[in-house]
Amino acid sequence: MASSSVSARPNWPASRAGAVLTIDLAAIAANYRALDARTPGAICAAVVKADAYGLGAAHVAPVLEKAGARQFFVAHVDEGLALRESLSPAARITVLHGARPDALEDCVRSGLRPVLNSLEQISQLRALARRLGHTLDAVLQLDTGMSRFGLSRADVQCLVQEPDRLEGISLSLIMSHLACADTPENPANREQLEAFLAAAAILPAAPLSLAASSGIFLEPAFHQSLVRPGAALYGVAPNAAGPNPLAPVVTLAAHILQIRTLSKGDRVGYGLTWRADGPRRVATLATGYADGFARQGAEKGCAWFKGQRLPVLGRISMDSMTVDISDIPEGQIAPDDTVELLNASHGVDAVAQAEGTIGYEVLTSLGRRYHRVYENQPQNT
Ligand SMILES: *Cc1c(COP(=O)(O)O)cnc(C)c1O
Repeated sequence: MASSSVSARPNWPASRAGAVLTIDLAAIAANYRALDARTPGAICAAVVKADAYGLGAAHVAPVLEKAGARQFFVAHVDEGLALRESLSPAARITVLHGARPDALEDCVRSGLRPVLNSLEQISQLRALARRLGHTLDAVLQLDTGMSRFGLSRADVQCLVQEPDRLEGISLSLIMSHLACADTPENPANREQLEAFLAAAAILPAAPLSLAASSGIFLEPAFHQSLVRPGAALYGVAPNAAGPNPLAPVVTLAAHILQIRTLSKGDRVGYGLTWRADGPRRVATLATGYADGFARQGAEKGCAWFKGQRLPVLGRISMDSMTVDISDIPEGQIAPDDTVELLNASHGVDAVAQAEGTIGYEVLTSLGRRYHRVYENQPQNT
């Protein structure tokens, strides 16, 4: 019975939600192909950690596989186990954090390749290989300056002096991560590349990987054997300066709940921080900070209606925000219309700028309450 009432109103799930998040799968596929084409000598992997940066790995990963990706990276073992269900058995899944000792066997038995970030993780995998009686595939990560993950220079020396530590381990990749790749002129990029190549030169030979999204837009020397883009696949700009060469992926359309007319002196929102200097028309939108729009971005925040900018007024609430619609002629906008909080020309990077953060954080903060529409599913070809 419920299903018949749903089918009678095809837009019903969308109109129940405060906002509709549309994810353009063809744009993600196009971004993958563009990044792959930019790195002709390298394998282009796909980073789908944090549920494909909040966009839904179960929907996104198969599209990336269809677009040509054969290697996928996640952060946690659990993410890898879930991802296995979405990909063909041939897809190679690497777990960036590696596995804690009691999860390592599950990780390996499920066909997930762990990253080894420390001598402890190396000895745990060696012990498991010995116990299982066969060689295990792994990625070795080196710290080349970020002081976050991977073997230190002293750890590398230790491995060189005691090669038995790698017994039973087949290193199919040696990787590191750039700290400043979004600022191409930063000398730290070259320093990390040189430190990486110097360390790799004394370790057992393996393909190398250094570049994530921003690194792909540095010189080809940074590409090495495999590149690991995440954010760029989802349309985030690879560096702050200059135009974004990637296709926009997300659109967010929020419902208008109410429209009201204010007189001079009327105030808006918690703390009554905004005061009308004359008559204004305002709309309350069904999206707030619980949906990923940071409170601190309010003063520079905006929505869009048919190309017109609608500034946010006052503070953003948990479930709503208020925007100025005075520039839209009366009768041309009404409750139940939608306005855009993200669109092709005002994307996650623009929202990030208003909020004082980066597009990555806006993307991964997008709420769980949106009605999600996956459009332009690539056809089987
Ligand atoms: C997240 C991550 C990536 C992907 O980074 P983007 O900047 O999103 O392309 C690549 N490598 C490592 C080690 C990461 O943690």
